[in-house]
Amino acid sequence: MASKFSSVIDHYPEYRVDIGIEVHVQLTTQTKIFCTCANGFATAPNSSICQVCTGQPGVLPRLNGQVVEYGVMAALATNSQINKRSRFDRKHYFYPDLPKNFQITQNDLPICKEGHITIRLEDGSKKNIRLIRIHMEEDAGKNIHAPGGESFVDLNRAGTPLLEMVSYPDIESSYEAKEYLQTLRRIVQYLGICTGNMEEGAFRADTNISVRKKTSTQLGTKVELKNINSFKFISDAIEHEIERQIELLESGQRVIQETRLWDTKDRQTIAMRSKEGLADYRYFHEPDLPLIQIDDEWISRIKSALPELPGDKCDRLLTQYGLTLEQAEILVEDQQLAAYFEKAHALNPSKQTINLIVRDLLSLLKEEKTELTSCMIKPEHIAQLVKLLDTDRINNRAAQEIFKQMAKTGAMPEQLVKELGLEQVGASNELETTIKQLIADHPEQAAQYRAGQQKLFGFFVGQAMQKTQGRGNPKIIQELLKKYLA
Ligand code: ZN
Ligand code: MN
Repeated sequence: MASKFSSVIDHYPEYRVDIGIEVHVQLTTQTKIFCTCANGFATAPNSSICQVCTGQPGVLPRLNGQVVEYGVMAALATNSQINKRSRFDRKHYFYPDLPKNFQITQNDLPICKEGHITIRLEDGSKKNIRLIRIHMEEDAGKNIHAPGGESFVDLNRAGTPLLEMVSYPDIESSYEAKEYLQTLRRIVQYLGICTGNMEEGAFRADTNISVRKKTSTQLGTKVELKNINSFKFISDAIEHEIERQIELLESGQRVIQETRLWDTKDRQTIAMRSKEGLADYRYFHEPDLPLIQIDDEWISRIKSALPELPGDKCDRLLTQYGLTLEQAEILVEDQQLAAYFEKAHALNPSKQTINLIVRDLLSLLKEEKTELTSCMIKPEHIAQLVKLLDTDRINNRAAQEIFKQMAKTGAMPEQLVKELGLEQVGASNELETTIKQLIADHPEQAAQYRAGQQKLFGFFVGQAMQKTQGRGNPKIIQELLKKYLA
């Protein structure tokens, strides 16, 4: 496969880049992690809060079991080792949106460690990106800075359950970074534990980037890019950062360990805060929460209820239906579309079924700006239409017309063929008369064609299609023309 993707690193063959990514995944549990406030549905500021999630003195947290269950699901889906005993810790820092002045998180005993997920590279091959750990923690609130200089604190988000997923620096390009994030996002969406909505902050990535000479065995100084909320921006920001760091090193300067932000307007990263000298969070075990114990029976119960994961689905679609990687990936991206295809394929296992779905149906949905669920065209329609095409009862042009009509009325293809008179004029003798007449009507063109003007063949094909009002079988028309123009 030709490379569609170019990177700035290609211009510096003596350098390589190492990227590690931390992702914060907001969980879609009914209630918050340590209290019974509704999670994620509040609209008015500070309307879904209580003494616990606003950090009032003397209150006690109570762990939401659903958070642990979601954590185990994520562990299983990322091939991680689950810690049967896991614990919460306090991470201390001061910030107005964190009223307790500490975050309850997991430090030395996270829910799981040492996992990996598999991404697809550009050439279709697979690569494992290892995970150091996944831990559970609470989200902070939000500071809102108004234009007039006033600031506000909204604590609705405080206490929202998070999984923080930390990768090893196994990612070697902005392409891999994007694939990693898309793969991880699909996994949590398939599990149904996160919406994956990046713009709303439900899936937030902090990317650590460093460059080094290929000859160096030590990682370079890393720079953290914080909270970039789209895949496009992440690629752009990483590319920019690779170039900035290499240029620093090439001009004899050094890279400073810091956190930088992506400025979408000026398309560059800008320094936010220095990270030199490790921040001391004064971690200690959270005394108000007991040790979390996860037994094998619970794990196997969760395991047996897991859905088919995107990677497995992709492999199965490839082998079971002989799809191309591109077709399989389109289906994996959209679980409803995948189910739709499998239903249509069960009704009609023709090779055409997938084509009609990923080509015609998808472009129709896009054109009409409709969702698959509200579309009048069902798998039964596709299966029947494919049969009409495969048996040469209609041609492609008629199929397009039927598609449009099906979308409007929901009528079945067989019925539309009859109603609209779209049946292909296929019987040879009927066409034979038409072709003979056509050649007789255009003696000059026929003579020129026979004298070697090959391109006039197209003229005759066009005329024949016109005569049959587009219903002529193109294959038979061509055969007959060749025969009678010879
Ligand atoms: Zn609360
Ligand atoms: Mn965190």
